[in-house]
Amino acid sequence: MKALTLTATNRVEFLEVPIPELTDPHSLRVRVIATSICGSDLHLAAGHLTPEIGFALGHEWVGIVDEVGANVRSFTVGDRVVGPAAVWCGSCELCSRGQEQRCAEGGVFGSGKGMGNLGGAQSEYLIAPWAENTVVRVPEGVSDAQALSVGDVLSTGWTAVRQVVSENATDLLVIGCGPVGLSAIHTASAAGVAKIVGVDRLPARLEAARQLGATHTVLAGDDVLTELRQVLPGRTLSVIDAVGTQESLDLACSLAGIGARIAVLGIPSHALTVDMAGLLMRNVTLWTGLGDLGHMSELLEKIARGELDPTPMFSHTVTLAEVPAYYELLAAGDPSIVKVFVSMS
Ligand SMILES: [Zn+2]
Ligand SMILES: [Zn+2]
Repeated sequence: MKALTLTATNRVEFLEVPIPELTDPHSLRVRVIATSICGSDLHLAAGHLTPEIGFALGHEWVGIVDEVGANVRSFTVGDRVVGPAAVWCGSCELCSRGQEQRCAEGGVFGSGKGMGNLGGAQSEYLIAPWAENTVVRVPEGVSDAQALSVGDVLSTGWTAVRQVVSENATDLLVIGCGPVGLSAIHTASAAGVAKIVGVDRLPARLEAARQLGATHTVLAGDDVLTELRQVLPGRTLSVIDAVGTQESLDLACSLAGIGARIAVLGIPSHALTVDMAGLLMRNVTLWTGLGDLGHMSELLEKIARGELDPTPMFSHTVTLAEVPAYYELLAAGDPSIVKVFVSMS
């Protein structure tokens, strides 16, 4: 089979490798029918997250069950399924206290030996471990692109919304309208948040933000703080920083009102500073963490009922063969790309 492999820093190419064998009774073998390129794939390719090379890439996937482990009862060959970007065992000490995303036995697809040694989703087949815990059947009527989103970005955006949108909150500020920020906007809109403000440097992302439920959008320029103060005159109680830079964190802290909650989802590439006294005097709660991927079924049901439709975030649909070219376009910062949907069927 073909497996998109990181063969050197910032060099990805298809290698011909054997189809993985199903040896674990709790796993499924899946033929991948849809995948995507995520921001973290670019970090991996650039060597920001691990010094390893030589591993298959990709962690977002929808597929058809190809073979079923002896102890798996819930799936049969031919089922259309989606899995989380990161898997968990469900029984270790970390899983038992709700920290499945940092499961001691788990790992992230397409991220090398240091992160669980799982296969990549930008490959024709993969092995899905602990299938009963982690894999979900895709309901009829839900498209591959819609299903793909729940395995990573939609779940991550929703995690932040659940952290910051309290009963008193009537507005939400989302800094950064990439796929995770857009997912926060969309799930907050479906949850009934009346005023949702999206900020980004790229017009294509703001257009997607409006389609997904943002009531106000601000193109980030030199005077973004002044512009946001006009849109949110009394500051806001709910802020999501989906960028993770000093600039975005400063903006989040500046606009957080008394009793506000801030969630930081963007992964900073270096240590950031924060005005703790300023936050303390305003009773601000600062939360950060990985997306909780344990609610995929709920999100799929909302999509099936028409309450959510993340489709507008997919700006480009491409074939598997085109994926290396899109790594280059994304790394070069092509402003037209919001999220790439890779269809393999
Ligand atoms: Zn991802
Ligand atoms: Zn575990």
